[in-house]
Amino acid sequence: MGARSAIIIGAGVGGLACAIRLRLHGYDVLVLEKNDRVGGKMYVHEADGFRWDTGPSVVTMRHVFEAVFRDAGRRMEDYLTLLPLDPLTRYFYPDGTIFDASPSTSQMAANIAALDERDVEGYFAFLAYAARIHRVTGPVFIYDKPPTPASFARVPVTEWLAADPFRTMQQAINHHVRSPYLRQLLGRFATYVGGSPFAAPATLNVIAHVELMGGVWYPQGGIYQIAAAFARLARELGVTIQTNTPIQQIIVENGRAAGVVTAAGDRCRADVIVSNLDVTTTVERLLPSQAVPHRQRQRLVNYAPSCSGFILMLGVKRAFPQLAHHNLFFSEDYPAEFRAIFDDLVPAARPSVYVSITAKTDPNHAPPDSENWFVLVNAPARAPHVDWSAQARPYADHVLALLAERGFDLRPYLAHETIWTPADLEANSGAWRGALYGPSANSRFTAFLRPRNRSRAVKGLYFVGGTTHPGGGVPMVTLSGKVAADCIVEDQR
Ligand SMILES: Cc1cc2nc3c(=O)[nH]c(=O)nc-3n(C[C@H](O)[C@H](O)[C@H](O)COP(=O)(O)OP(=O)(O)OC[C@H]3O[C@@H](n4cnc5c(N)ncnc54)[C@H](O)[C@@H]3O)c2cc1C
Repeated sequence: MGARSAIIIGAGVGGLACAIRLRLHGYDVLVLEKNDRVGGKMYVHEADGFRWDTGPSVVTMRHVFEAVFRDAGRRMEDYLTLLPLDPLTRYFYPDGTIFDASPSTSQMAANIAALDERDVEGYFAFLAYAARIHRVTGPVFIYDKPPTPASFARVPVTEWLAADPFRTMQQAINHHVRSPYLRQLLGRFATYVGGSPFAAPATLNVIAHVELMGGVWYPQGGIYQIAAAFARLARELGVTIQTNTPIQQIIVENGRAAGVVTAAGDRCRADVIVSNLDVTTTVERLLPSQAVPHRQRQRLVNYAPSCSGFILMLGVKRAFPQLAHHNLFFSEDYPAEFRAIFDDLVPAARPSVYVSITAKTDPNHAPPDSENWFVLVNAPARAPHVDWSAQARPYADHVLALLAERGFDLRPYLAHETIWTPADLEANSGAWRGALYGPSANSRFTAFLRPRNRSRAVKGLYFVGGTTHPGGGVPMVTLSGKVAADCIVEDQR
């Protein structure tokens, strides 16, 4: 019998990671990508001598990337240089307070003591608590195939209480620390999965453990180097990656995925089909409507979405030495910001503003004495009552005015400006309603029980990427590549 074949639709990080793993299992793998280059949400924009990473900017969980190369018998260092960042992020508060989150324990203790001496103890107790969540939930929810009753049973019931699923993230944080500055800082990790700290289950405080204990890493040359390194490894192993090839339909025969039809009308067949698209987009746009039962489709369409993003890529003809590589300007009313985004589904009136400047670490990402600002504001997933084509310009002006209020008036120094709204994010990557991470993590149900990597309705169809198990964000999506490939191999035995 010849090698089994797989077609992967989409060359996002998850699609590439899955391609590598399947190839290592001996599959003939063909990746078909609609864009002109790989990467998906991890993309690059270049203009007027500036360069920006357009999607992810904060990379954690270094060990996940090392494992991809190690499993292929390679060394990550030969493909990718991950530099540790210090500070992890510089936080700016409305009253002028500035706080550096440091990877150094002693420096962090000193910085916290300057806010509130009593919180040094509380902070380290919080980290121990978050490490315990990681230890208990990691083997079931993060590093393995989707949870089953058997995988739950591997962890004693008493241990599950440590996962703290019944409080919100913010309630657990407030239990540990007093300083409003530190409370807001620790709460922001909910946004890493597109959620709100006031609604997401406290289990997601695991994200703080991953960043504050594991560090923030920057791939020298830009975040896009991760996608480029995965694509290089995949090609070296024998994976075929074809860009500029949008897929229009997944062929289903007798309840089984049998191939794909490209937008140009070509038909390609394979033993298994893996979709790296948003699960809802796959079901609604690529599968024949009768392939998935109506109730399953409705459930996907009706999930509350995670948040989207409003992005400015700014070329700034000035340097700001007060800023670090990652910066966050916190809003004065965090609950109001999340109410706007998740309850009212409108852009927040006074949002927090995140600014990443890779030129701080890679000076050639901007001309001399200039900076490449990637500005990201959490925004609601696309909804019919928000017309981004009309709102993009005024909201961009508003964000620039908010930065000016905080002492960073870029307006006289702008050499370039590109605006991306949730509608652009939806068009570029196929993200349903432009939501960055699929179903919102604000409910206990959707935070833990993501759509599975195996399609329940269509045999031979698998899902990989941020909207499926184990979740969104570059490291989790990389893990989903392994998980989906392992499900496929298990099913073919
Ligand atoms: C603005 C922004 C900021 C983020 N910040 C961070 C961060 O700081 N840290 C972090 O870890 N994560 C972050 N993320 C999330 C992270 O980028 C994603 O979770 C991850 O990159 C998603 O990878 P994926 O494998 O799910 O696929 P995607 O990136 O969604 O890729 C899907 C691929 O499928 C292709 N495709 C779509 N339709 C078709 C079709 N019909 N035919 C063929 N191909 C198709 C797309 O072009 C794309 O290449 C951010 C995301 C965004 C957008």
